[in-house]
Amino acid sequence: MTAAAPARFWNKPVSKARDPINREGLRPKFWERVPLKNMEPREWEALCDGCGKCCLNKLEDEDTNEVAFTRVACRLLDDESCRCAQYDIRKQFVPECVVLTPQNISKIAYWMPETCAYRLLYEGKALHDWHPLISGNSETVHEAGQSVRGWTVPEFEIPEEEWENYILEEGI
Ligand code: SF4
Ligand code: SF4
Repeated sequence: MTAAAPARFWNKPVSKARDPINREGLRPKFWERVPLKNMEPREWEALCDGCGKCCLNKLEDEDTNEVAFTRVACRLLDDESCRCAQYDIRKQFVPECVVLTPQNISKIAYWMPETCAYRLLYEGKALHDWHPLISGNSETVHEAGQSVRGWTVPEFEIPEEEWENYILEEGI
């Protein structure tokens, strides 16, 4: 989208809970040896690091497909937990929210955050040390400054035509 084009969202199953993802009992280091399309559903969900970056509004140049993230967060994002506040009924409020799957990742990866575990693995890269699957602690994504905790602005405060004023100059 250009600055004037409609925003798009996507995300994964999360809830209000601080870390709703159960990463217990998964195959050892599955993310290093199991292709994305062959992962079990729990493994797929466990890839999410809980950063919340995918719930930021984005602007895309319709000519170049270049994507810019903004500090303007989806209306349902809780920027303390970095989770969707109404995941189960989010489509009622945000119908454009997209669920990432092994089937659609090839079309979506290019506009996901650079640190997103799904994008990293799709591009053949390794997870970062702060990823909960590596650290064993869901807080490390926040401690490493890799989440959106505490620095977003809610979209209901910012008209869409002003989102370009909130573009993040550094990649995320
Ligand atoms: S950007 Fe990727 S890793 Fe971060 S919350 Fe979204 S799906 Fe999870
Ligand atoms: S509806 Fe929820 S999951 Fe979807 S973009 Fe908004 S905060 Fe994220």
